[in-house]
Amino acid sequence: MKSPRRWTPWSALRCLTCWRSCACELGLSYVFISHDLNTVRAVCDDIVVLYAGNKVESVPRAAFSQAARHPYFELLASSVPELRQGWLDQRSTSRLALPPMAVGTPPNPELCSFLDRCPLRVTGACDTTAPPRRRLRGDVEILCHRSEADLIALQPASV
Ligand code: SF4
Repeated sequence: MKSPRRWTPWSALRCLTCWRSCACELGLSYVFISHDLNTVRAVCDDIVVLYAGNKVESVPRAAFSQAARHPYFELLASSVPELRQGWLDQRSTSRLALPPMAVGTPPNPELCSFLDRCPLRVTGACDTTAPPRRRLRGDVEILCHRSEADLIALQPASV
């Protein structure tokens, strides 16, 4: 009897990229749901970021690295482990460290769903009015009060 083949993250990625090629060849669409952003980038053309059931950003794969990011998306992206010394220390002291989820008080559905945890919230705007949905450069769509320039400037340079 043959021994079972080992299943590694590399074989999973190979399988997904093969699946993507087949889907492209056959003209099929698919939805891939994951927190694993490296894999998402490898197999998806359009990336949609949800927080608490709300679409907070959509970004084409081509603009993934350069575009302004919603604060929640920035946190997700900066939590992808990097194989370099000091990454973890840098990550844990980052301005974008995520505060814990508030327990007890339900969020106000009229306001930003990320308000209670957002390290970049703007007092007087985020806590009083619903965030606008806007189209930015690179065909990015974002739901946030912060301007595109703000979001780019506030991204940690090396995280
Ligand atoms: S609208 Fe305000 S609270 Fe919501 S993600 Fe943007 S900056 Fe943060």
